[in-house]
Amino acid sequence: MNNHRTITSEISFEMAHRLPDHGGACKRLHGHSYRCLVTLQGSVDPETGIVLDFSILKGLLRTVATQFDHKTLLHESETDLDLDEETCVKLGIDLVDYIPTAENMVQRIWWLIEGQLGRLSLLNVTLKQVRLYETATNYVDCFAGDDR
Ligand SMILES: [Zn+2]
Repeated sequence: MNNHRTITSEISFEMAHRLPDHGGACKRLHGHSYRCLVTLQGSVDPETGIVLDFSILKGLLRTVATQFDHKTLLHESETDLDLDEETCVKLGIDLVDYIPTAENMVQRIWWLIEGQLGRLSLLNVTLKQVRLYETATNYVDCFAGDDR
């Protein structure tokens, strides 16, 4: 057995969204309790016996929660709502250039975590997987190599 291991941590956040072109109930404004799991891979340091301190991984996950928690994500095409910038800031509405599905959010989370790894010069680990639960039983995965 080599000394590569994956380490995973989880964070949760509450967020509202609406899928403008959805054929069913997701067209309505509604919220979810999201759970996000991030998995990194790296070698076990022979001196410390760990890949990376979990507190550092948890710090990366907090950047995800900061971006999404208690926000409302709407697609920028929702011009019929007549939302000005002041209203968006006041109500915590982020107008985004992607349809705010779990599939699209997981990619943004991937980019966010990858950016943080670079910023913190955490070169001994690579991002292996991001899993985003939109409900207790539905989730989307993004794996290394899927982020194109
Ligand atoms: Zn939804």
